[in-house]
Formats: sequence, C-alpha cells, structure tokens
Amino acid sequence: MKIYMDHSATTPVRKEVVKAMEPLFLRKFGNASSIHSFGKEAREEMEESRKKIARIINAEPNEIIFTSGGTESDNLALKGIAFANKEKGNHIIASKMEHDAILNTCKYLEKQGFKITYLNVNSEGIINLNELKKSINDKTILVSIMHANNEIGTIQPIEEIGKICSNKGIYFHTDVVQTFCKEKIDVKTMNISLLSASSHKIYGPKGVGFMYVKKGTKIISLLHGGGHEFGIRSGTENIPGIVGFAKAAEIANKEMAKENARLKKLRDKIIKELLKIKDSRLNGSMKNRLSNNINMSFRAVEGESLILSLDAEGIAASTGSACSSRSLEPSHVLVSLGLKPIDAHGSLRLTLGKDNNDKDVKEVINKVPKIIKRLRMFSPKLNIEGIC
Ligand SMILES: *Cc1c(COP(=O)(O)O)cnc(C)c1O
Repeated sequence: MKIYMDHSATTPVRKEVVKAMEPLFLRKFGNASSIHSFGKEAREEMEESRKKIARIINAEPNEIIFTSGGTESDNLALKGIAFANKEKGNHIIASKMEHDAILNTCKYLEKQGFKITYLNVNSEGIINLNELKKSINDKTILVSIMHANNEIGTIQPIEEIGKICSNKGIYFHTDVVQTFCKEKIDVKTMNISLLSASSHKIYGPKGVGFMYVKKGTKIISLLHGGGHEFGIRSGTENIPGIVGFAKAAEIANKEMAKENARLKKLRDKIIKELLKIKDSRLNGSMKNRLSNNINMSFRAVEGESLILSLDAEGIAASTGSACSSRSLEPSHVLVSLGLKPIDAHGSLRLTLGKDNNDKDVKEVINKVPKIIKRLRMFSPKLNIEGIC
C-alpha cells in the first residue's frame, strides 16, 4: 500500500464530492446565464454553493467570486486592487514567505511601477507586527499576508494584521488556501478585505477556487467578457467544480475540530521520532502550526534524494514546495527563516490528510531514519564536515 503524505500539494477528491458533482455534468448541464429551465436549475445549484461557502467565512453570498483556483484568486486580488487604486497610492506590503502566486504577481507589479515592501519573518516564520506598522505609509494601498504557509505550516496572526490595516484604512488580502476549512476564518472579526481559497487542497476538484471581496472594495477585473460573477470575473462558471468545492468545504468545515485533533497527534508523533535523528531540526513554529504539517531539515542530506528514496519505498512526500522542487534553488521560505542553504536543501515536508493513520505514521518513522542513514553514507559533504 502506498502512503500519500503530500496533502498540501493536492488531495484526492472525496467520493461524496464526486457524487454531488455528477448531475451537473449530465442532467443539470445548463449555462447559469441562460434564462430557460436548464439555466435556472444550474444557477440555483451554483447560488446554493455560493451561500454555503459564504456562511463558512461569515461573508455575504455576493462577496464570493468563483475563480479557477488559488493562483487566479491571488492574481485577481493583487492586480485588481493595485490597478483600481493607483490614484490613491502605489505601495503594497507582502511577506518574504508568500506563495509564488503572490510573490511573482508582486514582481510583475513592480515592473508596472508599484513599490513592494517584503516583510521579514522570524525564525518561526512569523512577521513582526511593528515592522508591518512602520512599513505602512500614505501611499500604501494593500497588505497581503498569507494565513498559513504551505511549506512550513506557520500560522500568521491575521486578526492582528487585519486590525492594523483596518485602523490605517488600507485593504488586507490573505491567501487562506492552506487554512480554509482547516482553521476558523471570520472575515468580519478578522477585518479581511479580500481572501483567496482553492478547492483541490480540501478534497475538492482541481481548477476551482474563490476570492472573497468585501462589499464596497474598489477592484478591477482581469478577465473581461460577459460580466459573470458580479462583473468581476467573466467566463461561464465551472458549475460542477463549484458544486464539488462547496460540498468538500461543507464536509471539511464540519469535521474541522475533530480532524485537527486527530492529525495533531499523528503530526507530533512523527516530529518527536524524527527529531531523534542526528543533525535534524524542525522548521517553523511548534505552537502556531497547521495540524497536518511536518517540515524538517536533515543536515548533509539532499532533499531530492530523500524524496526519491521515500517514493521508492511507497511514501509520497515533498521537499520545499511542489513548484520549487523542480529547481535546484533552495526554498525561499526556508531561506527567509534564516536557514543556511545546506539545511534548506535537506528539507522534508510531510503533510497529513484524512486517510493517514497510525500505521502510516509507524511506517514513516521506521523508513525515514534508515534512508537518511544510507544517504549520509554516500554524502561527500559528510566526510568533509564530519557531521556524523
Ligand atoms: C496551492 C496553493 C496556491 C495555489 O492554488 P491553486 O488552486 O493550485 O492555483 C496558492 N497559495 C497557497 C498557499 C497554496 O498552497
């Protein structure tokens, strides 16, 4: 049996979700913009899904814009706010630890004349609220700080960040792809102006997500066309995807507390055992951490080799993020924590999910130390530095 421990990259779709989606492909295939019964039926399903999702984050249904996923929502939020508010100012604040969908959008905006401040994070991956306050100036229009980091699982104090932004009268966007239906989110008490979420990280289908945008927010659209999604995001809606997303969200939200408690136990067992390996360290925060995230570094071990060896043993894990593991650059997240490249390269991310159990944990605890021992035997760095 293979063990999948890469749930922050993507998740399998729940059976109940597939079942909920099926009629929307077959019988209820209408275009939500059509005024005949087929259109009406599809539209009703879509609006029901919008209501379900809005309720989970304490938003109004007309503040939910369906998109193609987290990446699009991040792009829409940042570019949409930047271009709509450039008369007011050209300064945006993000952290060094944001997802590439944010960081590369920021780089693009810099080329368009916007100024971006990238906030530092401490050794646990948490931003400094005083640094945030000091960075805000009269040209600042937007702060974008993710709720939880996809690599190290660090959870940011977004309620405090929201309060600071609200007091200064600037927009606050947060990427909640890793926390939607995993941590409580209330857009009102947290003073969130915009947020991004994605379906495929919570056992829903790929290629669908949403952006929350608070009523009255000045934003422009990136896709122009028939004026779907309240004029903010044109294009015929992916109704099967939307219905599947809402179903997945409904289930995950209901199971949140119980599942978090279960995952935390599995997580902590793995961390405790793997920290017994010589020259190992846990990356991120122990206290402010996603229930399903384990990110560790093993000195003088190359991350890619570790992942491939684990894969050969039937365990799917990752090093850095799925995107950055294709390059040989050390993860920008681990580097921003202050890790030396030698430690950043030897990182292992295990992200647990609903089907992982004690047996899987035992298997990982058994296999990882053996693989690391073997890899270190072949590591020339080891002899030079005499680590073991
Ligand atoms: C996965 C992920 C994204 C991208 O979402 P997609 O739906 O895959 O485009 C954005 N931000 C974070 C934090 C993620 O983990």
